[in-house]
Amino acid sequence: MKRLASLPSPHCVLCFRIPFRYSNHMLCSRSRCIPFSSARSAIHPLLPPHRYFTTSIPTAMRVIPVPCLSDNYAYVLVDDNGVGLAVDPVEPRKVIPVMEKENVKISGILTTHHHADHAGGNKGFLHQIPNIPVWGGDDRIPGLTEKVVDRAAFTVGELHITPLYTLCHTLGSVSFYVEDKKSGEKAIFTGDTLFVAGCGKFFEGTPEQMHNSLYNVLGQLPAATKVYVGHEYTKSNLKFAVHVDGQNPAVVAKAKWVESNTCTVPSTIGDEKTFNPFLRCDTPSIREAVGLPADASVVEVLGALRKLKDCF
Ligand SMILES: [Zn+2]
Repeated sequence: MKRLASLPSPHCVLCFRIPFRYSNHMLCSRSRCIPFSSARSAIHPLLPPHRYFTTSIPTAMRVIPVPCLSDNYAYVLVDDNGVGLAVDPVEPRKVIPVMEKENVKISGILTTHHHADHAGGNKGFLHQIPNIPVWGGDDRIPGLTEKVVDRAAFTVGELHITPLYTLCHTLGSVSFYVEDKKSGEKAIFTGDTLFVAGCGKFFEGTPEQMHNSLYNVLGQLPAATKVYVGHEYTKSNLKFAVHVDGQNPAVVAKAKWVESNTCTVPSTIGDEKTFNPFLRCDTPSIREAVGLPADASVVEVLGALRKLKDCF
């Protein structure tokens, strides 16, 4: 156990890779990794950890959050062969070193929408890593080479990627739904459409469009789908959730949880439905919180809830 004892404490004890730096998890971003306490007793000191665990636990894609600017998240998405993408790499000087350290074969950029705090690093990224595809749904995205079409899936390495139009925050917003062909693991990168316990501002679209994005698109994904959002807004979102849905035990529990967690990704679609007020506009509690009558539509409740949040 000498080798374990000498590890820098935040590193994953199974694969020794980059952990969630802003998290107090004792896991890295590999879903196959297990908690620190279990790992210590599981590892045989003479076996190389990687070889040992890749034979016993299914392989999976990895998602590494890279905090950027004041509260943005870029992500490094890597399949099990090391083929990887950068998602909204607004600060290339932070994202590229992570990819290099992980020996990622950098194969492109996914851009959720054109706002500068998401797409503003594309040109700098391409300057350092030229001639790679840039996927996105809006001509306003710098460096765009592959304009995606709703649900027209494509494959990068082992990653099966389906762009989903999730319009409203902008009229070119896309969420990227990623399925790992080997492990079956699923993830969605939602940009500024869905946040943990919140949703994006309706800058360019209507409540009808956000309703479609949240309920008919994202809300229809498998419950276990991991949700990777564009900003770390969870703490303030939960303050609002407590304000409008404070009798909901899931809100209370999540609000308590966030007090001791600074990196709150990933969430899951299933969990969001329990505590995210913007996904609960069909409940009496949210309808009452915005002061609308029982016959108000879910779209009306969603629009009123967003206005309430804008002034909160
Ligand atoms: Zn935005």
